[in-house]
Amino acid sequence: MIEVLDGRATTVGDVPVRRVLPRRGRRTVGAWCFADHMGPTPVDEFRGVDIGPHPHIGLHTVTWLVAGELLHRDSLGSEQMVRPGQLNLMTAGRGVAHAEESTGGYRGDLHGMQLWVAQPDATRHGPPAFEHHADLPQVSLGAGEATVLVGEFGDVMSPARADTDLVGIDAVLRAGVSAWGLRPEFEYAVVVIDGTVAVDDTVVAPGQLGYLGLGRDELTVSATDDARLLLLGGVPFDEPVLIWWNYVARTRGEVTAAGLDWNSEGERFGRVDTALARIPSPVPPWQRSSG
Ligand code: MN
Repeated sequence: MIEVLDGRATTVGDVPVRRVLPRRGRRTVGAWCFADHMGPTPVDEFRGVDIGPHPHIGLHTVTWLVAGELLHRDSLGSEQMVRPGQLNLMTAGRGVAHAEESTGGYRGDLHGMQLWVAQPDATRHGPPAFEHHADLPQVSLGAGEATVLVGEFGDVMSPARADTDLVGIDAVLRAGVSAWGLRPEFEYAVVVIDGTVAVDDTVVAPGQLGYLGLGRDELTVSATDDARLLLLGGVPFDEPVLIWWNYVARTRGEVTAAGLDWNSEGERFGRVDTALARIPSPVPPWQRSSG
C-alpha cells in the first residue's frame, strides 16, 4: 500500500517550489524532515533564488540540483557553488547561518531539491560543518542508474555525513521496470522529479510524495518513458521534532532562544559574507501578545 500525498505549492525567492515534506500526517521519513522540489523555472541575473543570511539549528541541509547552479555562503566561511551532480551538505548543530544565491551569470532553468535531515540528540548541540561532494557513487538499476547522495544503496556508500541510518538516491530511469532491494527496518518515500513513475502499481507524479512505509525488502519501479525520482528512507526518527521556520528543535523554548540569538546578532550564528540582507527571525505564535 502506497500513500500518495500532494505537495503544497509555494515560492522561495522568485522560484516556485512544491513542498512535499512535511505534509499533514507525514512529518518525517527516517530523519528526512523537509523536501522542496524547486522549479524547473527559468532564472537569470535578475530573477532567481536570492536568500539572504538566515539561521538554522538541529538539521543538515542537503542541496541537489538537476539543472542550474546555486552559490552557498555560510558563517563558517564556506563559499561553494553547487551544480548538477554535486551535493552541498551543511550541518547546523547548535547554530549556523547561510545565504543562497542564483542571480549571478547563470541563465537557464533552475531545477532541484532542497532537503533537510533532522539531527539526533547525540549531535544536534554539536558544532556546525559544511561539506561539498563533487563525486558521488553511482549504482546501476535495471532500467537506469542512480546516484547515492547519502547513506548506502546497492552496496555503494556515499561519502556524505549521516548522523542517523538513512539513505537518499537520485534515480534516472529509462522506460522499463526495475526491482530495488530495500531494508525492512527503513521507512521510505519517493519524490518524482521528472516524468511519471509507477511504484509497485501506484502512479506517483511530480509534486507528490509516495510514502511506502516500513517492512519492505523490495520495490518495483516502472516508467513508460524517461523519468527521474528521489528515494528517501531511513530508520524512523523517534525523537519528537518541532520544526518552526528554519529551526529543527524539540521544544518551543529552544526555538524562542534561537530566534532571540539570531535577531540580537550575537556570536551563536556568526556572520555570512554576502551583499544580501539578513532575514530576521519571525516572532513565533506562542510569543505573540494577545492584547
Ligand atoms: Mn537555509
